[in-house]
Amino acid sequence: MLDHQSIFLFKEFNAFCSFCNEEFASAKAMGDHLMMCGNKTDQCPNCRKYVRRAIFAYHYENSCANPDAPTTDDQTYQTEPHSGKFTALFY
Ligand SMILES: [Zn+2]
Ligand SMILES: [Zn+2]
Repeated sequence: MLDHQSIFLFKEFNAFCSFCNEEFASAKAMGDHLMMCGNKTDQCPNCRKYVRRAIFAYHYENSCANPDAPTTDDQTYQTEPHSGKFTALFY
C-alpha cells in the first residue's frame, strides 16, 4: 500500500536532455528545453567549427558535413542531392 507521502516520491515522467543530460519532470519542459538546447553550439574537435548540438552527431559522423550550412563564398558548398532535410533527433 502506498501512503500519501510515498506517492510524491514517484516521478510521472523522467527524461534527460540528450545534449546536456539535464533532467526534466515533464515532456513539455523537456521539449521547450530541447528547442533551446539543440540550437546551442559546441566546438567540433575535428574542424574547430561551432556546430549546433542538434546536428552535431550528424556532423561528426559524416566527416564534418554540415546539413544546414549557411551559404559561404569562400568555401565550396557541398550537398548530397538525396540527403534532404535533416530530421531533428528529439522527436
Ligand atoms: Zn539540454
Ligand atoms: Zn567538424
